[in-house]
Amino acid sequence: VIAGFYQVHKDHAPLMQELERCLTDPRSPSSPFTEPLRRRVVLLIEVERPNFMFGGVDRFRKRRPLEAPKTAPAEENDSVPPGEAVFQWWWGDPQPGGRGHWKNYHPHVSARLEELLAKDEQFRSCAKSVPIDEVRYELQRISRDCPFDLLDRNIEGKFRAPFLPESVMTVDHALFDDPSRLTNNCFVQFQRGNPSRRRPARRIRRGEAAGLELHTGEPCAICFSDSGVLTGCEKGHVVCSGCLWFALRAMVGDSGQQEKVICGCLTSQDTTAFAALALRADSSMQEMLTKPPTNPESLKEFEMELANVRSQFQLSHDIPGDIFRRKVKDWLEMLRQKSLEHLYHACSHPGCEMGNWLLRADFDAEYRPKGKCQWACKLGHKNSVLPSQADINEMNRNILLHPECYTDRCGHDSMALRRFMLCAQCVGEGLLTFAVHESGCKQWPGGGGGHRHVFCFHCGQPWAQCGHQVQCQDPGVQQVRRADDGRGGELLEIGFVDAKQYIAWVSGGETQFAACPPTLFPNGAQVIGATRQGILRMEDKEELKKGIGEGTR
Ligand SMILES: [Zn+2]
Ligand SMILES: [Zn+2]
Ligand SMILES: [Zn+2]
Ligand SMILES: [Zn+2]
Ligand SMILES: [Zn+2]
Ligand SMILES: [Zn+2]
Ligand SMILES: [Zn+2]
Repeated sequence: VIAGFYQVHKDHAPLMQELERCLTDPRSPSSPFTEPLRRRVVLLIEVERPNFMFGGVDRFRKRRPLEAPKTAPAEENDSVPPGEAVFQWWWGDPQPGGRGHWKNYHPHVSARLEELLAKDEQFRSCAKSVPIDEVRYELQRISRDCPFDLLDRNIEGKFRAPFLPESVMTVDHALFDDPSRLTNNCFVQFQRGNPSRRRPARRIRRGEAAGLELHTGEPCAICFSDSGVLTGCEKGHVVCSGCLWFALRAMVGDSGQQEKVICGCLTSQDTTAFAALALRADSSMQEMLTKPPTNPESLKEFEMELANVRSQFQLSHDIPGDIFRRKVKDWLEMLRQKSLEHLYHACSHPGCEMGNWLLRADFDAEYRPKGKCQWACKLGHKNSVLPSQADINEMNRNILLHPECYTDRCGHDSMALRRFMLCAQCVGEGLLTFAVHESGCKQWPGGGGGHRHVFCFHCGQPWAQCGHQVQCQDPGVQQVRRADDGRGGELLEIGFVDAKQYIAWVSGGETQFAACPPTLFPNGAQVIGATRQGILRMEDKEELKKGIGEGTR
């Protein structure tokens, strides 16, 4: 036995050296890593190699049809979407080992062939072909008992070219793969009236091959040790019982991992494969429970797995015969819910379930037009749909950048107006509406059209409470914040910064002392000026001065 080999997780390979250094350090420091290295000890056992045992080193490799020329890169097959079955034909050289790849038939064609396969008993049982298109091509299913062999039909068929013995195509044709053979999905496409012009075709339903046993000795894609069943992935990976239990447990224990599960190729869309794999995991576990392994090492491994199953799934002792199917189903259901989450406004009450939440579409249709930003979930928890703090900060920054008025004497009213304001009535509804004054009188929007609220750009009051005849007062530069509504919810409220003091502070320079005015809210609460400037990242007076000097045009 030659020691000194580790199987190391790819990402952790560079750390291995450091670990070795640390382990051989006579001062024995503690491990330099926060997470344990993913590694296993591997023993290389060298023995006299009897040829009958170790003769072919490729014995456990997947049997490949005649290798394509070494220089040619492997061609990509068309991908198969989850769900529907897809028919594919071999594009390229149809001889065994020929260069080419599998190409999808048009989805309409696939759908029609799938329908014929379900309806037409003779097509299904390999007894007759069906047309692929109106003019040229036919498709015939083949099986081990019914190969594509029209040798005895040469005379009656009046074929354009004779059907020769080498035209016969069987399921052993090297371009077919094991999953296609195992799932009975080998077909032949041929020219009508000229069947020696034929090429392989196949039917694939993603995940359909999952759980099927391969007898080619292909090793498990996870432990590379035992053989097992197909995972149903496009690469034809195989997984052993032990790794399947482990991989399924890891998968259902982590809702974040939805890609690259099991053998690394499946995604949460592969429900067909999961159903078959969970069934397989259940049956192999029950089988082993009734007939435990006799080898003490295997028995220990199995008992450890049982302990893990019990603790992860909180089972007292008995392992239900459908435990993996149940857990996989729960997991898929949870993912389905998660994928719908973005359609809802979530209830802020801890643990309140999605079934109680409010659809965003319903909120936009029933609440927003009425100016309501508050809603109650089905259990009565109070919630508000308010802009995020980031949006609020952004709005406050834009408003505060221009505390100056762009005009001293606006049209008609001859009042000083700023360029930018928030619509206070929108704020009352939980919305941030940035209003820009172009020109004209203080009424906004001019002429009273274009926005569902009308207000005065000098005092900010609804137009109904102001008007051309009113000499209203400028309350200062607006700032908005979230506040308690006193009924368990939240609302938006507007406070004001004294514009004169603020401009004095900005133009005061770094040495001159002028206090930065606070934001004053209607109920008397205030936010200290320096705090506000810090939160809005508006502390550089030179920059602020430049902004005010340049103005808004
Ligand atoms: Zn394995
Ligand atoms: Zn795979
Ligand atoms: Zn709730
Ligand atoms: Zn408004
Ligand atoms: Zn007017
Ligand atoms: Zn006014
Ligand atoms: Zn500006």
